[in-house]
Amino acid sequence: MKLAIPKERRDDEPRVAASPETVKKLTQLGFDVVVETGAGLKSSIPDAQYQEAGATVSSNVLGDADIVFKVRGPETEEISQMKRGAVLAAMLNPYQSKETVDALAQAGITSFAMEFMPRITRAQSMDVLSSQSNLAGYKAVIDAAELFTRAFPMMMTAAGTVPPARVFVMGAGVAGLQAIATAKRLGAIVSATDVRAAAAEQVESLGGKFVMVEPDEGDTGETAGGYAKEMSEDYKKRQAALVAETIAKQDVVITTALIPGRPAPVLVTEEMVRSMKPGSVIVDLAVEQGGNCPLSKPGEIVDVDGVRIVGYRNVPGRVAVDASNLYAKNLLNFITPLVDKETGALAIDWEDEIITGTLISKDGQVVHPALKEGAA
Ligand code: NAD
Repeated sequence: MKLAIPKERRDDEPRVAASPETVKKLTQLGFDVVVETGAGLKSSIPDAQYQEAGATVSSNVLGDADIVFKVRGPETEEISQMKRGAVLAAMLNPYQSKETVDALAQAGITSFAMEFMPRITRAQSMDVLSSQSNLAGYKAVIDAAELFTRAFPMMMTAAGTVPPARVFVMGAGVAGLQAIATAKRLGAIVSATDVRAAAAEQVESLGGKFVMVEPDEGDTGETAGGYAKEMSEDYKKRQAALVAETIAKQDVVITTALIPGRPAPVLVTEEMVRSMKPGSVIVDLAVEQGGNCPLSKPGEIVDVDGVRIVGYRNVPGRVAVDASNLYAKNLLNFITPLVDKETGALAIDWEDEIITGTLISKDGQVVHPALKEGAA
């Protein structure tokens, strides 16, 4: 079976869906791996390394591929080259890319959205949101430190004491916890907030202080899947008051709050930004989902009276080598159990929770329940 790794089409996407390590393992599984010329260059992987690992490098990889691994959803031009019945695994961004989802269905592609991977123990090694968010959380702090015109750690010198930076992390999921850990390693005083009460213990175990309003009675702030839910109006008001009080004392704010399938919640208002000291830095990791701060702009650094709001896109791509390696491993771990050891063909159990959770299109139809006409 031919497994293709195309070069990502978007200029702002330096990641690639296979590494030499995963190519080697995919070849051992019996796949004929074909990598598009130059696919790994922006992740510092020259074509020769793929060839050494057992892949063929070619300028045309999609035409007869049985399986396609990509980072982003395919462009129309790529879909038109793929054969009917081909299997695609990528970060399809299904809620915001309805046209791509429809085009994949129409082209008869069996597509899987890797970001829909269920958060179950068996699927942890396939969880692209975790592997990429973890790097984004790290890089957000590094980006903030670069723009911040003071030091992060406390320094006691003969000339006087440099105070430690105060870092506030909003949203203590995978990205937020790594941001807390990174800011702590740099010597900052770190506090964090989340709507999920369960996050308190994790924040504290990393040495952060947990700041949270009392939840509505009997509310854990999370869905059965462990994600945050939209909170009540009363909760939002109380949260805004606490955040306003906390934020004015911070030097760096990292926002990571997301609600799956909905725009990111607004957590840092213009008034709060204006309450911060000049020189402070806000990094809005949710900027591509609408932003946790209404002033952040995708791909820009906005200056509001000396407070800089960073809205870099594709933050995992700013650590492209690690992001590609981990993403490639997630895909390898996803495909491995689907291969029949005897025949080398795909033997997919369509009832498996991992498949039903990620399958977007099949046999000419959009099949995911959350994307069908009329789904909330
Ligand atoms: P996410 O990216 O969807 O959201 C980031 C964080 O923002 C979350 O912690 C969320 O609770 C928080 N948030 C949302 N709205 C908020 C608001 N209004 N105010 C403050 N914070 C808000 O989350 P994630 O990083 O993908 O993690 C979601 C959950 O899944 C967590 O419980 C995480 O520990 C869990 N998880 C489980 C597995 C597994 O395999 N079992 C793997 C990864 C993550």
